[in-house]
Parts: sequence; C-alpha cells; structure tokens
Amino acid sequence: MNNFRYKLAQFFAGRTGVDALGRTFTWIALILMLVTMITHSNIAYLLAMACLLYSVWRMFSKNYQKRYTENQLFLSKTVKIRAFFSRLIPNIKNRTARMKYNWNQRKTYAIFKCPSCKQKLRAPRGRGKIQVTCSKCHTQFIKKV
Ligand SMILES: [Zn+2]
Repeated sequence: MNNFRYKLAQFFAGRTGVDALGRTFTWIALILMLVTMITHSNIAYLLAMACLLYSVWRMFSKNYQKRYTENQLFLSKTVKIRAFFSRLIPNIKNRTARMKYNWNQRKTYAIFKCPSCKQKLRAPRGRGKIQVTCSKCHTQFIKKV
C-alpha cells in the first residue's frame, strides 16, 4: 500500500494537478453532462467530453510552467465573475442554514399565532394542553402542543 502511495506521489510530482482552470472545466463538463441527459444533445455530450479530457490532461501535464501561466491568465480574466460567485455562494449557504434551522424549530416547537394580536409564538411540542401568555399583549389562552 505504501509502495503504491509512493508510486502515486512520484507519478504526480512535477505535474500540474488540479488548479482553478482545471476545476472550472470539470464543472463545465458536469453541467454539460446534465444538459446532455436532459436534451440528449450530441453536441453537449461532445463538449462535455472535451472539457473533461482537457481538465484531466491539464492535471497530468508535465509542462507546469505553461499550465501555471494559463491558470494565472484565466484567474485575471475572471476576477469579476469569481467575485460574483463568491458573493453568491455564502448567500446560498446562509439561506439553506436558515431553512434547516426553521425546519428543526418546527420539529421541536409548535408555532402559532396569538388570537388577539397575531404575534407569532412558539412552545415546545408534546406537552399537551398548556396555558400560553402572549409575549406582546399578555393575552392568556389555552393551546394544545
Ligand atoms: Zn398577543
């Protein structure tokens, strides 16, 4: 096993490996494959294969200097696009985290409205009938949770 790892490390030594440009092409290939599955387009399939082959070829390329220059050029040309995506991704992460939080809240808490002021209230589930005091208008009412 160690011998295999050593050989693998030796194989990858001096090769480009995965860089931003290669990763982008892998993503494009995946998206194109999805397009292929939906549209059954031969062109999308060929493009997907081409992108995949290109990213793999980059990974194994021994001309590190040239690949590095290409990657730097790619990075400098895509500054704006990457800034856009890096702003978008935390937004998506935040939103899914909030959705997950709300979902967990719904599982452990009963959420209901105060009958007189419509204030949103919550109480732990599974306690049966409880007396609730509204946090806003202090109306008391009975609620089954
Ligand atoms: Zn109220």
